[in-house]
Amino acid sequence: METVRNELRNIAIIAHVDHGKTTLVDAMLKQTGIFRANEKVAERVLDSNDLEREKGITILSKNTSIQYRDTRINIVDTPGHADFGGEVERILKMVDGVLLLVDAYEGPMPQTRFVLRKALSMRLKPIVVINKIDRKDARPAEVIDEILDLFIELGADESLLDFPVVYASARDGYAKLSLSDEPKNLEPLFQTILEYVPAPGGDMDAPLQLLVSSIDYDDYIGRIAIGRIERGTITRDQQAVICKRDGSIQNMKISTLQSFLGLKRINIESATIGDIVAVSGISDITIGETICSKDKPEPIPFVDIDEPTISMYF
Ligand code: GDP
Repeated sequence: METVRNELRNIAIIAHVDHGKTTLVDAMLKQTGIFRANEKVAERVLDSNDLEREKGITILSKNTSIQYRDTRINIVDTPGHADFGGEVERILKMVDGVLLLVDAYEGPMPQTRFVLRKALSMRLKPIVVINKIDRKDARPAEVIDEILDLFIELGADESLLDFPVVYASARDGYAKLSLSDEPKNLEPLFQTILEYVPAPGGDMDAPLQLLVSSIDYDDYIGRIAIGRIERGTITRDQQAVICKRDGSIQNMKISTLQSFLGLKRINIESATIGDIVAVSGISDITIGETICSKDKPEPIPFVDIDEPTISMYF
């Protein structure tokens, strides 16, 4: 039976380096009370690594999850070098919407094109967030025009040109739907995410399918496969199989099943369609493999790695 997970949203943030992604995620975490009142955000949520900085592009460096009222908002991670073959595609496959975060003075940078192009081709409708609206030299109206031009240039169809716009100061922790609104907090951004990003849906009772979209490593539990559940339900003690890229099938026993909360991973007993989970139990699992139920192993088609790298687009 098809179910819609109204209480869940999965998003990615597309931003040129320094446009304020880290600051925005920090503010979103703070305002949703992930941190205790007396607890400082000890380390910056996301650290841009040098390679990302060099290429001038990041989506996110860590998975984050925010609980906004009744809704869980997962913000997905991308590996540092998200430009190589299919990587961006697999990451974006985990989400149903993207925030295109743009500096209100600088405007869209050419380096955000590649990821934006991918997002548009996957029919992910972006929410445009004009950040640093507090800047004296902010020029939001022009920047919106530039973004519109970029969308057209990238071949976005009509329906995508009508993107929602949120004006924000991540630094000062507010977002507004109109420039003349009083700055308060990030509520308008959260509301826009809830309104515009579709809730994930699917069949919870179907045989499990989970495409491994990224890999992490933990000193205690070892190699961790991260992905979104496309179909069915996963439980911690489940016998599952891995559909490898060469077509072979390997048995696996799930040893740890986790979801994200704030910046941490927490152990859970089960998860279902649309959930983004971290699974351990297989030492050689890799990106692009599918974790499936034992009784009906059907891999999710793998996005090939022969596509051009980001540098070819500049
Ligand atoms: P990232 O590279 O996209 O993660 O960008 P950061 O979050 O690290 O921000 C880059 C710089 O912009 C930092 O110095 C931030 O303090 C600053 N910044 C971020 N958001 C705002 C904002 O809303 N207004 C202003 N004036 N500065 C901001």
